Formats: sequence, C-alpha cells, structure tokens
Amino acid sequence: MRCPYCGGSETQVKDSRPSEDGAAIRRRRVCPDCAGRFTTFERVQLREVVVLKRSGKRVPFDRDKLQRSIDVALRKRSVAPERIERLVSGITRQLESAGEPEVTSEVIGELVMAGLKGLDDVAYVRFASVYKNFREAKDFEDLLGTLSDGTLPPVSETALEAEPEPEAPGRRRSGRT
Ligand SMILES: [Zn+2]
Repeated sequence: MRCPYCGGSETQVKDSRPSEDGAAIRRRRVCPDCAGRFTTFERVQLREVVVLKRSGKRVPFDRDKLQRSIDVALRKRSVAPERIERLVSGITRQLESAGEPEVTSEVIGELVMAGLKGLDDVAYVRFASVYKNFREAKDFEDLLGTLSDGTLPPVSETALEAEPEPEAPGRRRSGRT
C-alpha cells in the first residue's frame, strides 16, 4: 500500500484488528520514509456496483462517499460510530447483493433515509429535507459527490447543519426549542 503522504511504496503494517463486527479488518500502517501514519480497511466486496445518476452518468459506487453523507446528516448527534458503520455496511451489502446491474442514486437515497430513520430522528429529517429539495432541484447525487470532493465547505458549520431556507414552500420555522 503506497504512502498517501510521500508516495513511498514500503509502508508497514503496525497493527491489524477486526472492525465493523468482524466484517472488516482495520490496519494501522506507518511509512518508514516519512513516518506518516494511516489506516486501511479490508472488506469483502461482493461485486462492483454501478450507480446510475439522474444525469444519466454512471459512476462506481463509493462507500466512502456514502459514509460521508451519512456522517454529515449525523453531525453532532450522539450515535455510536459502530451503529453508523453498521448502517453504511448494511446499505453497501444490500446494493452489492441486489441482482440489478445498476442502482440509481435515488434508490441509495431511499436506503439512507430508511436507515437514518431507525438511527436518529434529527439526522433523518436533515437528510430527508436536503434529499427532497435536491430531488426537486434535480441533483441529489451531486450533493453526494460535492460533499466528498470538498467543493462545498468541508463538513463543517454549513452543509446540512444549515437551517432550511425560510422560502422553502410550506415550511415555516416553527420555533424550535
Ligand atoms: Zn511516506
């Protein structure tokens, strides 16, 4: 595994242990050239999943993007990381084991909403409101993309944290307490 910092190819595994309920192996690695440390995960991939975007573009399914958009929705919510991992892994496995050659970004959005609903109400509402607005505005899948490309401000104060715009149809700010 090449070092992400200096590109050195001789990185060493310092520690490896099961993760995600044994569904993955987590390895701590260190680069002897620059002393950079990083982590890799080894996971079963049942098959390649192709995501069909609304634009008609096809892109490989990216578990990390999925994880990041879920993390954004769950920001500052106290949900155990293991539960989040289980959700991400569960969705990934559902997609991999579905018989379809392609999956639409819409299906992924629905799976995320269903999963968040069982995990945390606030995260669910955050995700659903963004998802639905984008569905109308057309490019939810670009949200998934841009959040992880860093095109939007990094998953910081803004992103899904932002209050819904008051002009959103039928939505009044109902004195949150
Ligand atoms: Zn290095």
